[in-house]
Amino acid sequence: MTTFPFHHDIRARLLQEFRNGRVVQSCVFVGPHGVGKLTLARWYAQALVCESPTKDKPCGSCAACRAVAADAHPDVAVAARAEGQETVSIEAWRILQDRFTRTPLRAARSVMIVPDCERLSRAAQHACLKTLEEPRPASVLLLTASSPALLLATMRSRLTQIRLRPVPSPVLQQALEEADAALTPQDADALVRYARGIPGALLHEGRIDAGCALRAARQERIAALRGAPLWRVQKALREMIGKESAHASVEVIAGACMRDRACGIAERRLLALLSRALTRAVNKDLAIDTLSIALAH
Ligand SMILES: [Zn+2]
Repeated sequence: MTTFPFHHDIRARLLQEFRNGRVVQSCVFVGPHGVGKLTLARWYAQALVCESPTKDKPCGSCAACRAVAADAHPDVAVAARAEGQETVSIEAWRILQDRFTRTPLRAARSVMIVPDCERLSRAAQHACLKTLEEPRPASVLLLTASSPALLLATMRSRLTQIRLRPVPSPVLQQALEEADAALTPQDADALVRYARGIPGALLHEGRIDAGCALRAARQERIAALRGAPLWRVQKALREMIGKESAHASVEVIAGACMRDRACGIAERRLLALLSRALTRAVNKDLAIDTLSIALAH
């Protein structure tokens, strides 16, 4: 069971090795921000400590899998930065390492996850390197990095790099359709373009949330069009009509043109009328011109 249906190839490879008794002792998941590195590291930690008797690990629903998801498993530690801190200090690292190197309490292994490991302080990176140089059979170290070039060269050379690439559009499209059966094809297309291969852009609280992502996508486009000359706004609207729902297009243009003005009753009425006109494709060009000129004044 998973709420993150991406990177199947990497997961299949890791599981195959796990079933063959070859657990990855230490690795770094590398890829752009939001591509799913930390989610994949957590998923692998779940697979390593899952208590389900089935072969399909992680099950995602046993007590151990749920504990990992809630950051509450005694043998899985996540090296989170303290609030307001840019790096993980050597003191914080030592506390985690102590937990990591002791005998596991519940599972067969201890797992330490270090998100954005390039943000470890230099001293913590040196301590991490020492851990890598002295691997323990019952301990697994999973790191993530968006900029692996910032790591100590000696650390990089000791780590297996697992590269996560942007997710292909058809995979994102399918995941959206499965997550929200009511999503229109136009909105699904708009979300795939907005995500640009980064599934994190579609998530809210760890799950795909199309409604939330649509609002964020519209805000992004409103911000991009704000203050733009009228001809650019009209061009953007023409491009949007046909690709997306008329209502969504009107909302973006209205947000961009009205800037910080409150939307009055007359304007809202105008928007509703034009939205209906565009939906029915009645004199579309006239509707676009009227809308953009009316809103710009
Ligand atoms: Zn499980």
